[in-house]
Amino acid sequence: MRILAGVDIGNSTTEVAIACQENGELLFLSSDIVKTTGIKGTAENIQGVMKALLLALEKTSYELHNVDVICINEAIPVIGELAMATLTETIITESAMIGHNPSTPGGLGLGTGKTVRIDDLSQCLPAEKVIPIIPEEVSFDQAAQIINEAFKNKIDVQGAIVKKDDGVLIAKRVANVIPIVDEINQIEDVPVGLPAAVEVVEAGRTITELCNPYGIATLFGLNSEQTRKIAPIAISLIGNRSAVVIQTPKGGIKERKIPAGKLFISGQKYTHEVDLVSGAEEIMSTVEKVAPLEDAYGEPGTSVGGMLSKIKKTLGDINNQPLESIKVQDLFAVDTIVPQKVKGGIAGEYSRNQAVGLAAMVWTDKSLMQDLVIKLRDESKVPVNIGGTEVRMALLGALTTPGVEKPLVILDMGAGSIDAAGFDSKGNVKFVHLAGAGDMLTMLIDSELDLHDISLAEDIKIFPAAKVESLFHIKLEDGSLKFFKNPLSGNLLGRVVILKEDREMIPLPKDILLEKLISVRKEMKKKIFINNVVRALKRITPNRNLRLIHEIVLLGGSALDFEIPGIISEFLLINYGVITGRGNIRGKLGPRNAVATGLILSFCQKDEAI
Ligand code: ADP
Ligand code: MG
Repeated sequence: MRILAGVDIGNSTTEVAIACQENGELLFLSSDIVKTTGIKGTAENIQGVMKALLLALEKTSYELHNVDVICINEAIPVIGELAMATLTETIITESAMIGHNPSTPGGLGLGTGKTVRIDDLSQCLPAEKVIPIIPEEVSFDQAAQIINEAFKNKIDVQGAIVKKDDGVLIAKRVANVIPIVDEINQIEDVPVGLPAAVEVVEAGRTITELCNPYGIATLFGLNSEQTRKIAPIAISLIGNRSAVVIQTPKGGIKERKIPAGKLFISGQKYTHEVDLVSGAEEIMSTVEKVAPLEDAYGEPGTSVGGMLSKIKKTLGDINNQPLESIKVQDLFAVDTIVPQKVKGGIAGEYSRNQAVGLAAMVWTDKSLMQDLVIKLRDESKVPVNIGGTEVRMALLGALTTPGVEKPLVILDMGAGSIDAAGFDSKGNVKFVHLAGAGDMLTMLIDSELDLHDISLAEDIKIFPAAKVESLFHIKLEDGSLKFFKNPLSGNLLGRVVILKEDREMIPLPKDILLEKLISVRKEMKKKIFINNVVRALKRITPNRNLRLIHEIVLLGGSALDFEIPGIISEFLLINYGVITGRGNIRGKLGPRNAVATGLILSFCQKDEAI
């Protein structure tokens, strides 16, 4: 009898399986999972490996000294690095059309009229359409009184623009329902006597008129050239609950392109040059054109240059390799949108600017792995065997999923990379490791929602969200309501929350709308996983013809996602008629532990099948 341990060191997690082999029978005893310590494939991993081994062994009647062999994956360090480069910025050249999204506007509706100082409101003519500007020194009571007086004099007050956070208070006190936008920081910059429009919709809904360039054109009677000029501001207001737009004679909004730098992408024969500004599609078609990628580097002194040299330096520092010998093996780009403060805005407005998210992957030589193996042997006092590449092991492990047969294709979707493996026409295994997976998704959710909080972004990725509509009920993503017997905590009221297990609700920053969160999360999952899965599958399929694939098993942490497997399955079925399912390793572990399980199987079978 012998006891075997399989150890899979990933970028994010270290997974272990323990099995016992007796009279040719292999019996799996336990498994466990811990966070990877240090950079994958380096001696720093040992701490995590030992912890996972001991945890898994605790569930058996064996101890570390009973283990006959530790089978470890060929964990060549792969550094996935992520970066963002902003491609555009919005500048308001004069206090022109402004867009603004305070968290608690008051009133309701769409109003248009000339801006007027609240002190001058009483001098307006009957039927005159006006929008008063209410500065700090005017209290909400005074403001409401002046507006009510104006209503009595038949002045057509269409809405209001307020400096303080008084929108709701004023709305409650005025006789007619009008839209009121508040929290305009630099109210003194709001021009007087110019056409303006204010829109406020009910909580939970988003504006429909001011976010549409033609809606604004209709309200202000703009010609096509003027409409084109204001389009960026209209688009930046999409998804808001309220907005104000003011038309100034000369004002304009400029969208300036920021030089983000050039990317140099080298294949075996040629080096191609791509400007980052040309976007993800152009970058990815160049990466495909030169495949297999030999190296990539960025223009020195630009954001892309800095990003690629940072990755190379991290790896160079670990194993004292010169920078020149470290090559980028894969590059993945995604178009994204980042909210940024508008330069020259008067209410701290944000606009949505274009950006590119990049994931790059760098491999190093196997010498680090040797170091890891020697140190692990010393620490555990157990012989260590390096198994094959992890994606081959994942293929073996995937075959323990009930209902799965060869010839299958696997997609191992981890933190830093998507790995795919399958058989070519001669029955040989073909595989590929591509940059960009779960961690990139988290990064892009973080930046699109402007969170600056990676662990919150990770929660948004993994768990569904809801809106706390009262102390006793929440609205779920599908619009259905869920009621509670005991009241929820008061600080959750009106907030969008993340529904973690065990009823724990994590409130999000106030200005995030439920609809916005759902659309950003889903869109990013689609962009990253559909594009990268198709790219991976094409590389391992004869003639890049995905229709030839028999079935696909999804593995890895990202296959645990509540949406990603569905998004991939639906896409592959509709477009290529391919059946895709989530792995269930050994009939009980779900998509996890495929590599650790495969390592033990491979050690026992001496890899005869693959
Ligand atoms: P690696 O093999 O690279 O260590 P894993 O297979 O452990 O990676 O996958 C890690 C990735 O899976 C991370 O990006 C993590 O956010 C994601 N992940 C883990 N659990 C879940 C979950 N329940 N739902 C969605 N994503 C998850
Ligand atoms: Mg993995």
